[in-house]
Amino acid sequence: MSECVFCMIARGEIPAKVVYSDEHVIAFDDIAPQAPVHTLIIPKVHYDRMGPDVPSEVTCALFAAVPKVAEAKGVAESGYRVIVNNGPDAMQTVEHLHVHVIGGRRMSHGMVNFG
Ligand code: AMP
Ligand code: ZN
Repeated sequence: MSECVFCMIARGEIPAKVVYSDEHVIAFDDIAPQAPVHTLIIPKVHYDRMGPDVPSEVTCALFAAVPKVAEAKGVAESGYRVIVNNGPDAMQTVEHLHVHVIGGRRMSHGMVNFG
């Protein structure tokens, strides 16, 4: 999986603005932010997406990192949206499991847009 851009970020081979890191996960700012705060949390080990191959400790670490990222980015009080685009119908574009943490301005109701 050496061609995977998020694996390359996890290995420090391409630059990223790292917000948080621990044993299982690393969080970095999205290169094309869709809000004032847009940070991605990824497992350090490659998994294409959410599925039965992902160990529960990795899933736990991904979601345990969310409030830490929110605190670091200053949106813990104002709130934020947590999104996982999982697979083709969700328009996942990078096939390395990741969690979006998006905030910094008020969003509209609803989460789903059909193209
Ligand atoms: P998704 O559409 O859920 O697969 O989201 C992939 C996200 O990865 C998009 O928001 C991209 O802007 C972001 N992205 C792609 N390449 C990079 C990169 N090198 N550094 C940071 N974010 C990236
Ligand atoms: Zn990867």
